Amino acid sequence: MDLGLAGKRALVTAASRGLGRACAEVLAAEGARVFICARASEAVSLTADAIGGAGWTAADLAVPGEPERVVAQAVSALGGLDILVANVGGPVPGSFESQSDQAWDSAYQLLLMSAVRLARASLPHLKTSGSGRIVNITSVAVREPVGNLLLSNSLRAAVTGMAKTLSGEMAGFGITVNNIAPNNILTDRIRQLHASGEGSAEEQLSRAAAATPSGRWGDPQEVGALCAYLCSDRAGYISGQTIAIDGGAGRAV
Ligand code: NAD
Repeated sequence: MDLGLAGKRALVTAASRGLGRACAEVLAAEGARVFICARASEAVSLTADAIGGAGWTAADLAVPGEPERVVAQAVSALGGLDILVANVGGPVPGSFESQSDQAWDSAYQLLLMSAVRLARASLPHLKTSGSGRIVNITSVAVREPVGNLLLSNSLRAAVTGMAKTLSGEMAGFGITVNNIAPNNILTDRIRQLHASGEGSAEEQLSRAAAATPSGRWGDPQEVGALCAYLCSDRAGYISGQTIAIDGGAGRAV
């Protein structure tokens, strides 16, 4: 199936590694021109080189003004924008009683306001595209809250509500807005979250994979493939959806 992504202009954020990188990599392999950002200059520039990216910048998306600057730089490098893949790193883990006001504020800026600011700054360009696409990378937490991830459980729900509302408001412009809700995709974040139990990190990872319905971790490239499809012309009638990619682990309908 030809996804029709050749020549499309895409911004993928938080893309030096993990799911963001995989989304950028698959879009670039499908012929899109891809601009990426992440926090560390060296890591993001190496990734841009490795995937054949069309440009990059270093940015902390939790800082007000930075999402808007990233979009402006992407538009300038690409000559417009057809696709926004809004990704950020996960918030700090912890239970309800462990989180201070400051932790809530930081997670609000990181998870919700980065997505709001990226979308808001991108919309004027996506409207002129005629087939604009927004894909937010969220989490399985929007369907089934994850233990010890209170901030993710709470603020991803806000991103989902925002995206659903935006999808209706933008449908008339040919813009679709969807969310990818991953779980059990093997990235550095998953390695960190499994680094504190019994046995070596690899043993813990193997045990955790064996406990999933499919008996294996998901590959970030599988998320990249879903992202590319949602960004394609072929997915033009899919909007306002949250699509889980979890190897069948989710129990929610
Ligand atoms: P990761 O930690 O492997 O990669 C995160 C990327 O985000 C890196 O490129 C990092 O530089 C960048 N980043 C982090 N904070 C940033 C900031 N403030 N500004 C700009 N860039 C920033 O994580 P991942 O596993 O690829 O996860 C991506 C997102 O998906 C995270 O929000 C994570 O919580 C969520 N998620 C992942 C899974 C999974 O199975 N991997 C499951 C549920 C949710």
